[in-house]
Amino acid sequence: MAAPASIVIVGAGQGGAMAANALRALGYTGPLTLIGREPHAPYERPPLSKAVLRDADAEHAAAIHPHTFYAEQDIRLMRGIEALALDRARREIRLADGTVLAYDRCLLATGGQARELPALPRGTPKVHYVRTLDDARGLRACLRAGARVVVVGGGFLGLEVASTALASGAEVAVIESAQRLLPNALPAPFSRWLAARAAASGARLRLGARIASVACEADGRTPAGLVLDSGETLPADAIVVAIGLQPEVTLARAAGLEIDPHNGGIRVDACCRSSDPDILAIGDCASQHRDFLGRHARLESWQNANEQARVAAAAMLDAEPPAPPYPWFWTDQFGCNIQMLGMPDGDLVYTCRGDAEPGAQAPRLIWLGHRDGLPVHGVAVNAAADLRQMRVLFERGTRIDPAGFADASAALKPWIKACQQAAAPA
Ligand SMILES: Cc1cc2nc3c(=O)[nH]c(=O)nc-3n(C[C@H](O)[C@H](O)[C@H](O)COP(=O)(O)OP(=O)(O)OC[C@H]3O[C@@H](n4cnc5c(N)ncnc54)[C@H](O)[C@@H]3O)c2cc1C
Repeated sequence: MAAPASIVIVGAGQGGAMAANALRALGYTGPLTLIGREPHAPYERPPLSKAVLRDADAEHAAAIHPHTFYAEQDIRLMRGIEALALDRARREIRLADGTVLAYDRCLLATGGQARELPALPRGTPKVHYVRTLDDARGLRACLRAGARVVVVGGGFLGLEVASTALASGAEVAVIESAQRLLPNALPAPFSRWLAARAAASGARLRLGARIASVACEADGRTPAGLVLDSGETLPADAIVVAIGLQPEVTLARAAGLEIDPHNGGIRVDACCRSSDPDILAIGDCASQHRDFLGRHARLESWQNANEQARVAAAAMLDAEPPAPPYPWFWTDQFGCNIQMLGMPDGDLVYTCRGDAEPGAQAPRLIWLGHRDGLPVHGVAVNAAADLRQMRVLFERGTRIDPAGFADASAALKPWIKACQQAAAPA
């Protein structure tokens, strides 16, 4: 099949920028346009709650590609402009300044918006949401020694912000409505460990807590603190709302593309094609069938955006798509680099290897979740290299020996080898 006459990517974030790169790397030489609503060149979001939130100097390292990349690769990067409409019949995209772009293939990489808390809408004084570089800059200006920061939401993002705020000397409280941290992403024993780690680092966690009301200053508008359903008031100089993501599917919905009723994402096939095969969708806004979950899901992760970018680029050019990788995710918080391989599932048995003392200077441990001896989910704290070594056991479905794993006095490499040998056909 002939290469597409033109490709337009809407959304100049992680997925969009990586897809543009992948298209050129696969040999596509036709017109390629990348449209971004934000004024900045594409940048990575993970540092926004970590290094960039701490230090303005870290901003330059967050760029996805060097600034010369787009001109060198003949990619038309249009920044600070929103795509307003997608006309499938005419194969055109209309931009906010009236420009109309024709497309042969269109890729939607529109990400999402931070979910808003009705009681603390965007624009309220002292209230911060953290999705964009400008959001991170606004919050960074408030993080100083002694500032009272209240984080609403004890998910990965909320905990990272809490950790960074503590590192800048702020006093931090975290409000989480669930009874434990990240109940859908972490096994209960690790959840408890992480809560103890956060507390040992100075965060005041309020689990199973809800906001009953917002206490306001004399102007009746500026929050002075949050009143919990327990009656406790948490005074605040800054309030960070981190309660999840709303996928950005405005264009897709208006254009009549199929939207997943379960997660609000644009429903796509294994090649990231939407219900219109000339329009593809990737990243946080896309809902794709996941074999390891047995259902459609949106994955909000850096790895997923990157991998789907490669898959969609290959699909647009009718090239062979790369094999789906094992799901992997990382977070940095409370002095720990935490990496996760695979996905949790209710009936897994977890075995722990390493030093599980939450207050340790540099704890190092791995929780391995297995079913009938098959590894399914791994959570490594400051042990990324170990988890990397174990990856082969996950990918090949090699039965493991949990007792041998738990023995941290024995080296990991020989244990992995022994598992592989035991699983090899005689
Ligand atoms: C603070 C923070 C920390 C994170 N930390 C981690 C982490 O530690 N590990 C991890 O794996 N993941 C992390 N993530 C998640 C990861 O960054 C996202 O999953 C990833 O950025 C998704 O890429 P995307 O391309 O789908 O969306 P985005 O990167 O959000 O890009 C979407 C872009 O599309 C633009 N856009 C939307 N609609 C339009 C339109 N109509 N016209 C023009 N432009 C439009 C948006 O403005 C945005 O710039 C973090 C995210 C955040 C916000």
